[in-house]
Amino acid sequence: MPDHHFHDAFTVATTVATATTIGMLTGEWTSTIAATLGCLSGLVLTPDLDQNTGCISYWRIEQLLGPAFRRFWWVYWYPYRKLHKHRGISHTPLVGTLGRVLYTVWFNPITLAVLGVVSWWFVLYWFLGLAVSDLGHTLLDEIDKAVGGRL
Ligand SMILES: [Zn+2]
Repeated sequence: MPDHHFHDAFTVATTVATATTIGMLTGEWTSTIAATLGCLSGLVLTPDLDQNTGCISYWRIEQLLGPAFRRFWWVYWYPYRKLHKHRGISHTPLVGTLGRVLYTVWFNPITLAVLGVVSWWFVLYWFLGLAVSDLGHTLLDEIDKAVGGRL
């Protein structure tokens, strides 16, 4: 598995590329912001939440919200870890993204859309950003596997 710094740098680069592309294609801020937030969501809603040995997401949650929420986050993702083999379907582009979004449905932008806080277009662009982030993650994992874990 590539070092999390490598994944982070790639996610940031992917975010810049995605935001630029969406901004140029749509010419509007809302979709660009949604796609940017989606990409950055990949730093916490990472495909590696399927690992039993832990992942960077728990540390990030602790940094953002404190140690108590880290414990909650760990328990919350326990069934997901048990249901998914590492690098299995959770690392499959779009399917893995959709699975994690549905798993977290109660506090993500879909919930906000249901509540009328954001539009469904915002949710779509957010999901697109997260899917791009996940695609980059899986691509790096595959490259790492191909070069014998040297990333
Ligand atoms: Zn991975």
